Parts: sequence; structure tokens; C-alpha cells
Amino acid sequence: MAELESLEFGKSDFILLDEVTMEQFMENLKLRFEKGRIYTFIGEVVVSVNPYQHMDIYGKDSIEAYRGRELYENPPHLFSVSDAAYKAMKRRAKDTCIVISGESGAGKTEASKYIMQYIAAITNPALREEVESVKHVLLKSTCVLEAFGNAKTNRNDNSSRFGKYMDINFNFNGDPTGGHINNYLLEKSRVVQQQPGERNFHSFYQLLRGGSDDVLKSLHLDNDPALYTYTRQGATSNNDRSSHKAVLHALQVIGFTEEEIHSIYETLAAILLLGNLEFVCDGESVSLSEPLALTEISALTQTDPECVRTSLLYRTVATGGGDVIQKEHSQQDACFGRDAFAKALYERLFAWIVGRINSVIEVKNYNPVLHGKNTVIGVLDIYGFEIFDNNSFEQFCINYCNEKLQHLFIELILQQEQEEYEREGIVWEHVDYVDNQIIVDLVEQPHKGIISVLDEACLTVGNVTDTVLLQSLDQKLSQHPHYTPKGKDLNPNYNLLFQDFKRLMFSSCNGVLRQMWPDGQTSITEVTKRPQTAATLFKNSIVALVQKLACKEPYYVRCIKPNELKSPVLFDDARCRHQVAYLGLLENVMVRRAGFAYRQPYERFLQRYKMTCEYTWPNHLMPTDQEAVRAIVSQHGFDADVDYGRSKLFVRSPRSLFSLEQERNQL
Ligand code: ATP
Ligand code: MG
Repeated sequence: MAELESLEFGKSDFILLDEVTMEQFMENLKLRFEKGRIYTFIGEVVVSVNPYQHMDIYGKDSIEAYRGRELYENPPHLFSVSDAAYKAMKRRAKDTCIVISGESGAGKTEASKYIMQYIAAITNPALREEVESVKHVLLKSTCVLEAFGNAKTNRNDNSSRFGKYMDINFNFNGDPTGGHINNYLLEKSRVVQQQPGERNFHSFYQLLRGGSDDVLKSLHLDNDPALYTYTRQGATSNNDRSSHKAVLHALQVIGFTEEEIHSIYETLAAILLLGNLEFVCDGESVSLSEPLALTEISALTQTDPECVRTSLLYRTVATGGGDVIQKEHSQQDACFGRDAFAKALYERLFAWIVGRINSVIEVKNYNPVLHGKNTVIGVLDIYGFEIFDNNSFEQFCINYCNEKLQHLFIELILQQEQEEYEREGIVWEHVDYVDNQIIVDLVEQPHKGIISVLDEACLTVGNVTDTVLLQSLDQKLSQHPHYTPKGKDLNPNYNLLFQDFKRLMFSSCNGVLRQMWPDGQTSITEVTKRPQTAATLFKNSIVALVQKLACKEPYYVRCIKPNELKSPVLFDDARCRHQVAYLGLLENVMVRRAGFAYRQPYERFLQRYKMTCEYTWPNHLMPTDQEAVRAIVSQHGFDADVDYGRSKLFVRSPRSLFSLEQERNQL
């Protein structure tokens, strides 16, 4: 049992703290980290501290040790939650989800990969070919998504710059039959600009460093990232070359055709060349300084060079009278348009890749009558709270998303407890907690929430400046207790890409590219409808995500980053304390302790402990399992510590179970 691991390594479940205080919590967390125990339970929640070093705890032996076991039979581990989620799905036909949260560099993506590997390892014992191939594609998709969606930042060398929610579908045997990936808010601004010390997305460097001479030549590229404005910054890492190979292989395994793979490279190349285009102004009109690059971009995108030129220099507008005219860009607008185009090309490429993977893994020909209920395990790996010196619109979205998830966490944990108590006929004691609904409302309320105000400002005809927006926010929200007027730069909400670029791409002779730009077919006179702003699109996607999670049985992994230096030995007390506080971990312990720490169906309890009691061993002498369990509890003298539900025994303090476990081990 976990506790018997020995106290030398600290307490394996925070529920066991003598007192629930921040001091004790931190002391235990630190001790465990220092002893190489990176995982700790809060009941069923796993708290994880990034070890920043290789841990020998994910191999075959570990997988076997956790497979099919109960949570407390082994030390806390990602595999404990993975197995619990899998069991609930398989035994009770429940849809479950594993929500992984924590800030950048805390270890979310690594955790999600171990969870996927665990699920892959314990399923399909018969090695059925079609199941194996689904598993392969699911595992390989991670490699592709990381190449295109991750980048080196100052916080993490392999930081996910998008949110990911992956559903894995299972048949009645508990074997994976397919899946679906949802991606959220790719940080596309990175394509054209990076903070000092950071890099563009890995994919660009991988192509430049890893692409063969022939491939690069056909893409009009040289192999040096320093030659391109968008990748000039950021020394290449030495694994770009090998990663290129791995990603190419993954794309092939997933089933991307050679033509599709080449189109992906062509798009990357077109973006790099776009970035090198400069605009010159002779006082009257604006023109392009690099006509050759223009020809190359048109060749890569299979579009007409003259159309590329005009869409970079002009903008088509419909006049009030229904006429269509070409309006020349200013030099600044042309640069803005070029960058917006590059960002959109990348964003659509990414979305297309995700869609293409989905088309391969989606469950096909599933007949519930023949195959039984199709169940799901969802895995959510999404950006945690971000607070920088300079926060932009993206941080606003990310933090809003975290408030929503935190709200769901509080709601579900409490609600789950409450529901179980009711189901089992046990009296529920109310627990106080901080409800962040008020913050969520501040952001998303119709008409007066920040997003509505932002939308209104962005959609107002004419030039809306940040000052106007701030005035409007102040006006509507100054009474709100959590509103402090501060921000200043929220431009990216203006989700504007000149329609000319969309039509240009839709005119491409490359079918793959055309697929990425279906909205390019809309004619200019039809485009008068107001587009949805980035904030509203994001809000809608997060609301849909929360709905998806809310109808599943949730399991949580809460990741903590021990220090800023990526050091395996440093436990930065203040940084960790801060994370424990905003993740609400202490409250989580309190909720768990207020009720019953452990619960177990009578039958299972009996199975495990029957040998410790004369009424149940060697023969079961009691009329029902519940009475047999009562006999065991009473013989060990912890009647006061338990309650009897309809189908389960509820144990208030885990100590009672520990003593029982000890006795069992000594027999
Ligand atoms: P972001 O929000 O920036 O995407 P993240 O929470 O996904 O961050 P990861 O990329 O998972 O963070 O982890 C950052 C780095 O920490 C990894 O590249 C790896 O070096 C190290 N790391 C994380 N978890 C583990 C682990 N379990 N064992 C060993 N190293 C780890
Ligand atoms: Mg990540």
C-alpha cells in the first residue's frame, strides 16, 4: 500500500497530512520531490512535480504493476489515474476524461504522452491488427502535432503553443477503435515574431535543417534559418535534423500521401519566403522589393504571380453602391497584410493537419447494436495560466480558459462527492470553497462581459483604438469587484485577414491548399457580413469543450513546475507555493477530508481483507457482503470511522485502511 512505501518519502496522499495547512502541504511536496517521488495523491487526483530528469518509472514493469489495480495499492503515479479512468470506462461503460493542468513547463504534455502510452500498452492483448494500427496513428499524431504546434520559449524548450483535447474511442472489449483531436487557439503570432530567446514553431527549423538538398531546392529554400526573417532568430537545436526524419515517418505512418506531405512543405516554404518580402515606397506608390521571391511564392502555392502581387499590394473593397474597387495599401498596411497572410497560412495548415489526422482515426463502421456501446476517454492538455510582464490578447484567452476549467474542477469534484453520497444514502456535509464564477462572468457575460465589450469595439465601423476600447471597458465594468483597468494591447482580436488572400488561395491549382481555404469562394459583395472576432470564436470553442468535459467522469493531473532553471534538484519554494495556491490544491484536500477519504464496494473490500477476520476466513459466515464487512470493521475496532452506503463502505481516515493493509501483508 502507498503509505507503506515508508514515511521517509513523505506522505503519498495529502489527505494524510496531520493538519491541512500550506506549510505542511509544501513540506510534504518538497520532501517527496527531493526523494524522487514526483507524484502524490489528493484522493484520486494526482499532483505531479516536473523532475527535469529521466525517471525509470514508465517501463513495462511499472505498467504491469498498475494494470487493473486499485489506486491505493501502488505508489501514486500517472498510471494510477490512467488505469482508474480506463477501468471506469471499461467496467461501468462510463465516458471519462483526464484533465491535465499546470503552467508552461510543468510537464503536461509529457504526462499526456505517458498516459497515452499506458492506455496503448494495456489494450488489445490479442494484438488485433486494426486495433494496433489505430494505436499507432494515435501515438504518432503526437509527434506531428508537436512539430507544428510546439516551439522553444523562454519557459520551455518544447512548449505547446496550442491547446489539445483528444478523445479516444473504445469498443465493448475496451480496445481503441479510433479518436478525435480538437485543437484550441494556436499562437499564430509566433509565425511572424518571437520574443528574444524564443523560436518559431519547430516545423520550420526541422524542414530547413533536415530536408534533403533536392527537397529544399524544389522549395526554393536554402538550409540556413538565418536567411529568413521569420526564422532568423533562434539558434537551431541539434535535434532538428533527426526530428525532421521522425516527423516525416510519422506523417507516412498516419497515411499522409506524398503529395500532401509535399504540399505541407510548400506551404512552410511559401511562408518563409513571404517573410522576406519587403515593400518600398517611392513617395507615391508601394511596390515589392523582391520580384524573384514573388515568382517563387506563386510557384509554391500554384497561384498566378500577378494575383499574388496584387493581393499583397491592393485590397478589393465593395463600395456602398455595389461597385468593386482596388484600393492600394500603404507601406504599413502592406506589411501588416503580408504578416496576417503568413499567420493565416500557418494556422490553416495546422488546422488542416489536425483535420487530416482526424479523418484517419475517426471511428468508421461502428454499429452499437453489433459492437456494444462506444465509450470514450478524453485527454486534455491545455495551456495553464500565463502572466508575463507584457500580456496580450492571447494571455487573456488562455487565462479565461483556465478560469473556466478551474470552475469545472470545483464544480465536478464537489458535485461528484455530493452525488455519490446521495446515491449511497450518506449524509453530506457542506464545504466552503472559493467559487470563481464571478470571474468567469466578468469575461463571458452577454452584453456586459469583457468579450462582448471587446467585440462591440472591434466591430464598430471606423478605427477603434485601444484607448476607445479601454474607455468602454471602464464604463461598463468599473463597478465590478474584480475589474482593474490596466491592459493596453488587444489587437489580435481583430481577426482580420484581407479577403483577397482567401480568394488567392482558393484559386490555387493545388487541391490540398484549396481545401484549406474554402471561404475563398465567397465573392467580395457577399463578404459584408461581420466576421466573428477571435475572442468570440475562442469563447465558443471553450464553452463547447467544457460541455464535453462536464458530461464525462473526470480524472485530474495537476502539474507543478519546481523551478525556472529546468533543474532536477531545485525546489523553488515561493514558485511552488504560488502554483499550489492558484491550482486550489489545499481546498481540494479539505473537500476530500471533509468527507470520506476512501470508499470501496463491499465485495471488493471483502475480497481484499477477508483473511483478517474469523467470521470471513476461511469461510464467509455472514448472510450478506455488507454484514461481512461490518464484522471485519468491528473486529479491527474502527466502527466510528466508517459509514455504510448502499453498495460501498466509506472510510473517513485512510489510517484505518492502512492498519488493515498492514495486517493483511503480515499474514
Ligand atoms: P507547455 O505549457 O509549455 O506546453 P508543458 O506543461 O506541456 O508546458 P512539458 O513540455 O510536458 O511541459 O515538459 C517540459 C519539459 O520538462 C520536458 O521537455 C522534459 O524535459 C521535462 N519533463 C516533464 N515531465 C517529465 C517527466 N515526467 N520526466 C522527465 N522529464 C520531464
Ligand atoms: Mg505542452
